[in-house]
Amino acid sequence: MGHTCHVCGKSRPNEAFSAKGHRIHVCNKCRPYTKTQEYQLARMRDEIYNYLHQKNISKKNQKRLAELCQSTSMDVAELAQLVLEVSRIRSHKRKRIGMLRAKHPALFRRLIDAGLIFPDDVEENAWDESSPDDNAEEDNFDWDLPIDEEHV
Ligand SMILES: [Zn+2]
Repeated sequence: MGHTCHVCGKSRPNEAFSAKGHRIHVCNKCRPYTKTQEYQLARMRDEIYNYLHQKNISKKNQKRLAELCQSTSMDVAELAQLVLEVSRIRSHKRKRIGMLRAKHPALFRRLIDAGLIFPDDVEENAWDESSPDDNAEEDNFDWDLPIDEEHV
């Protein structure tokens, strides 16, 4: 019974993992690679991507994203900045893509250019107006509707 190394993707026996390697699922052969900047940056990009695709971007996540914005890697800093902007507009994932497309087309475009969202995501999520949990968590949603109309 072994483990799959998430760097090389190979399934290896327990002996191929050190104690620390076990925890991060990296086999001994790949351990040196985890010390490289290339690996560290790839992990940060994954992290940023995951924030965007999880259900909600929390305040804690935002704090972390703000830290990542300070990265000396322009690439990572730019991605973190984009996701941070998105989280400030709409921290919940639901309806986010359709909303960004409608209300923040420039930011929407940058997300696609950066590879953070894909045209497939847009097809799937842009018109999810009738998703089952449609009535939940609406308080957090700012459509910028003219409030005055309600009082006419
Ligand atoms: Zn490996």
